[in-house]
Amino acid sequence: MNIPQDFYSTALLLAAAISLWHAVTVWRRPTTITRSITAFLLGMVWWCVTYALHWSPMPRPYPSFWLEATYVGVVTIPTAFFAFTLRYTGRDAWFTRRWLILFPIEPTLTLLLLWTDRYHGLFFGGLPRDGNPLFNGGPWFWVNVIYSYGLMLISVILLAQAYRRATHIYKGQARVILTGALLPWAVNALMFAGFDPLPGLDLTPIAFTLTGLAFAIGARNYRLLDIIPVARDTLIEKMTDGVIVLDAQDRLVDINPTGQWMLRAGGHPPIGQPIEPLLAHWQNLVERFREIREGQFEVQIAENPALFVDLLIAPLHDGAGFYTGRLLVLRDISRLKHTEQKMRQANAELLDRIDQIEQLRTQLQEQALRDGLTGLYNRRCLEETLARELSHAESQGVHLPLLMLDIDHFKDFNDTHGHGAGDLILQHLAGLLEETTQAGEIACRYGGEEFVVVMPGAGIEQAAQRGEELRRSLEKRPVVHRDTHLRITISAGVAVYPIHASTASELLHCADQALYAAKHRGRNQVVVHE
Ligand code: GH3
Ligand code: MG
Ligand code: MG
Repeated sequence: MNIPQDFYSTALLLAAAISLWHAVTVWRRPTTITRSITAFLLGMVWWCVTYALHWSPMPRPYPSFWLEATYVGVVTIPTAFFAFTLRYTGRDAWFTRRWLILFPIEPTLTLLLLWTDRYHGLFFGGLPRDGNPLFNGGPWFWVNVIYSYGLMLISVILLAQAYRRATHIYKGQARVILTGALLPWAVNALMFAGFDPLPGLDLTPIAFTLTGLAFAIGARNYRLLDIIPVARDTLIEKMTDGVIVLDAQDRLVDINPTGQWMLRAGGHPPIGQPIEPLLAHWQNLVERFREIREGQFEVQIAENPALFVDLLIAPLHDGAGFYTGRLLVLRDISRLKHTEQKMRQANAELLDRIDQIEQLRTQLQEQALRDGLTGLYNRRCLEETLARELSHAESQGVHLPLLMLDIDHFKDFNDTHGHGAGDLILQHLAGLLEETTQAGEIACRYGGEEFVVVMPGAGIEQAAQRGEELRRSLEKRPVVHRDTHLRITISAGVAVYPIHASTASELLHCADQALYAAKHRGRNQVVVHE
């Protein structure tokens, strides 16, 4: 087969153009792997261009000039690829000053020995220089072959490991990169096996160009260049915190299963897509997320059941200090919030209870002073207030009249009309007392059918008159019960401090004596103590 050499040159220049274009694209998106990929691609450009010139009619100082020139690219490729592998597999620790000095030693030595071969023959070993140097050479030629393929082999092993360990998100990407890494091996193996479709043409640079192309596919489909090779081990996969990594353009670079669950984003995560549509359901989150580039805050992202998260936003930078995106860590604090809410609720309920108890207490206190049947103050209350009123009257130098009432023949009334009717009468009389009692006065049920009215500030006549009014209105107004007109009369006794008595018990006793006198005189009348 006679293939024109122009075809070789054109094919190689095309490969160079592809590599160059990728080198520019990659360089525009700086990340930790940018430099190694760019070095790799530029090495390819050099290799392809010089090899193209070798096949072209371009003048040369001696026949193997361009072929020897290809070596600048040839020695760059394995080192750059190795550097890329270390970066991609997260072995950034290797990039120490020591290693950065050691890396270029072998390539530089190879170039020096190659270009000074005429003096020592270590590289070509006296073999014709214009042949294909891949299959023939001197001792250093083989040193370089072993060194280069050794680096490549280590790279392939590391990439295969990375592929095996890659989680679902990175699996596809790792596969593309591994395939790219294996291509030159496959081509070399074919060539060793005698496969030679383009006679005399070394297919290695073409294979490496395909490696570059594989990287480009990886970059395009899986955002290779945006992904910082974070070592995503099982920890992140199984973390109970949601982890989301965004690139500088807020596109999703990584999300762990918890993060997906929290955002209710089922299925395959939309890696490489803008994050905002994914957060669309969680308006609260979107707003905070837009406002804050860096920080930590609590936000509710779902209702029914309520999901509260503690969101941490941290900016990410690569080794060179470039802003590469943001890290979002979402911690589920729903249970905490729930407990907090419950506690607040319990607290409110407790306060409510205390309030109720307080109300009941005052109610009870009030009830302890009141009589159940009539609602008037009871005897206990009277005893307490009477002492107070007496000392008040004493200090003020005023009179304190006490009016004591008793229903006449109430025993008979009960016997005739029944106890129920008797109660009704008691209530009726109590109502009347309540009506006529004025501010500052105290009306109370003193005993069964005995009542007392204390009238601070009133005089003896006023007290007698009050008793008379009550007596008359009872006499006049019968209580209607089951179509019967129930009539009762009362007797009353009046005693006044300090005229008749000087103590509370004396005053009560005197009023009782007056009442007894009223009964004795025929009932239904008011008597003032003499
Ligand atoms: P007097 O005119 O001498 O006062 O005669 P009286 O029958 O009212 O005499 P007494 O004080 O002995 O009787 C009081 C009666 O009052 C006895 C009791 O049946 C009745 N009584 C006391 N408390 C109540 C009550 O809460 N309800 C009713 N229905 N009756 C009561
Ligand atoms: Mg009585
Ligand atoms: Mg009575």
